[in-house]
Parts: sequence; structure tokens; C-alpha cells
Amino acid sequence: MIIEAGEVFTGEIAHSPGWIQLDGERITAVGEGTGPATPDLSFMDDRIVPGYVDVHSHGGGGSSFSTTLDDDIDRVLATHLATGTTTMIASLVTASPQVLRAQIETLATHVRSGDIAGIHLEGPWLSPIYKGAHDPALLCAPAIPLLDELVSAGQGAIKMVTIAPELDGGIEAIRFLTERGIVVALGHTDCSYDQARDALSAGATGATHLFNAMAPLRHRQPGPVLALLRDQDARIEIIFDGVHLHPDLAASVLQQVGDRGVLVTDAMAATGQPDGRYLLGELEVNVDQGIARLAGTDTIAGSTLRLESAVKNAVEAGLSVHDAIHAATTAPAEYLNLPDVGHLKPGSLADLLVLDDELTVECVMRRGHWV
Ligand SMILES: [Zn+2]
Repeated sequence: MIIEAGEVFTGEIAHSPGWIQLDGERITAVGEGTGPATPDLSFMDDRIVPGYVDVHSHGGGGSSFSTTLDDDIDRVLATHLATGTTTMIASLVTASPQVLRAQIETLATHVRSGDIAGIHLEGPWLSPIYKGAHDPALLCAPAIPLLDELVSAGQGAIKMVTIAPELDGGIEAIRFLTERGIVVALGHTDCSYDQARDALSAGATGATHLFNAMAPLRHRQPGPVLALLRDQDARIEIIFDGVHLHPDLAASVLQQVGDRGVLVTDAMAATGQPDGRYLLGELEVNVDQGIARLAGTDTIAGSTLRLESAVKNAVEAGLSVHDAIHAATTAPAEYLNLPDVGHLKPGSLADLLVLDDELTVECVMRRGHWV
């Protein structure tokens, strides 16, 4: 099948006009101008881009990844797929070891089938000072036996762990995880600038939602934020919903870090649903005008964002269209070492979106099938 479009943006290169050739679930060729044969489909007023890749989200459609029910997982995936997210990493909030283990085992079957790209453990190895919407009673220092137990329960499905590196055993835990090919992100942390640099030297490669739930950047105590911004290999997650960060700060960080910027949603169950009461893990969350807060507090508890809106918000705040799309496709795929997605190139999975002028997702293809 050959599809032509006004622009085909591969995640790195824009062909306008461009074409893409597919065979089954894979891309076989991409190019500029007119394709090698008469196109089967034509979108000359639109842009074709890779399917969106969300490496940090907890839920949507009224359901959450913190579950042992397959239907819940399907509902979350369908909610985000409808607006163009073709690859998801399932993020789990802090829970007890037994509960996490059961959730990991459930999610791992969906990772093996290819529905989900991997599991992200956002806790329990977080600072109580920057706990955000994690149950403080269940936070702990990262002892290797528990790390080993949970990683083993995933049988290769755990792809990312968030850690506060200043906790006892933090650096040792980073070495343990990265030696097993698991991405370590610094987050929910009160670490100093030097502690963050040590963690990056030990193998951490990213920031869990930069600025949110971490020691702030101060002029004499620059903390984790400056260490992460200055590390040329560190990927920087940004929740671009206009709530977690001032949009101009979010845009300016993304412009500063270039291709290291990663748009994430941190979406929770209320995504795509009306305002009301929801759960994030075991904690009750109140959603009002789309903003999720721990019930009875001002603490933001995830978002109701989808990547389609994150890309639009970034462009509205001044980011170029190509940089915003790169941050929702190629950058997160490279961050999580997912070579088959996030690019439109020969050999990649046929996950693609048709976007109109306003960057609204008009059509979604996953694994060669229109959704
Ligand atoms: Zn989260």
C-alpha cells in the first residue's frame, strides 16, 4: 500500500509532498515527491507523522493501569489510541510489594502480546518530601531484594523505574537496574545538584516530569533540575497541559534541550471522562475542570491530558510543529529503547497518524490497521 500526503514527517525529516509504502504491519519505504506507483490513499491537505509514544501515563477512560483486570487495561489503551497514542508505557504508582507484583504480572501479559510497550514503576522508591500523589506510608528506600523481586515478576516487561537517588541504596539501585537494561529516571526527589550528577554518572538517563515533584532550581542550590538540563544524554519529560508548568517555561525548556525533550501525559483515569471522583492507585482524586487533585488538597494528581493536546499546547506556546511531534514520537521511543516505533522509516512498525492543519488527529493506523 502506498499513501501520499502534503507532508510526511518521519520524526526527523519532513518530505513535502511525501509518500510512504507499507507491507502488512511494517513500513517498507518513505520518500519525497511522488511515490514509486499510483498511491492507494491520498491526504494532500494533511500531514502524516509517526504514532504518538507516551512513556508516562497511568490511565484513561475511567480505568487505570494499577489493576489486575484485563478490561481496565484495554479501556486505557483504547482511550489514548483514539487520539493517536499507538505506543504506551504503563506507569504504576506506589503500592505495597504484593499489590505491585500482581499488577506487574497482569501488565506483563499485555507487554508480551505487544499491546503495551513496557511497565514504568514510578514508586515506591521516592522521597516523602516530594511524594506528590503517592501514598507516603508505602514509600521506602530501594533495597536490592525488592527491586529484584519486582523486576523478576515482570520477566523483562519493566522498562523504566523512577528513583529519588538520595535515598539509602539509591546509587546501587541505579546500577542494578541499568545493568539489566532498565531506564532509570530521577523524580519525586529532594536530591542536591551533586547527588543528581552522581546518579546520572551511575546510569540514570532521564527526568520524571521535570520541575514537578522535585527540589526546585535555586540560584545557590540548583538541585536535580540543572543537573538534568546540563547532562547532554538526559531525556527531559514535560507535562504540557498548562497546569503542571507555565506554558512559557515548558516551551523554553523544550527549546533549550532540543531533541532530548519528551512530551508525556501522566494521564490518570479521568482522561476522556467527565469531572468527578477517581482513584490514583488507592488515593482518592477530585477532578474539576479537567484538573486532577488529591481529594481535599492542592496537590496535583496526574493529568487528564492526551498527547494530541500536549503537541498542540507546545506549538501554541511557540515550539515548532516538527520539534513538538519529535518530542511525542522519536524522542520517547529512543529514551525507552523502542527501535520499532517513533519513526517512519523502512522496517519500523506501520504506526502512523494523519493530522490536519490544526494538528488534530484525523486517522490512526496501528500495526498496519486503521483504527
Ligand atoms: Zn506519574
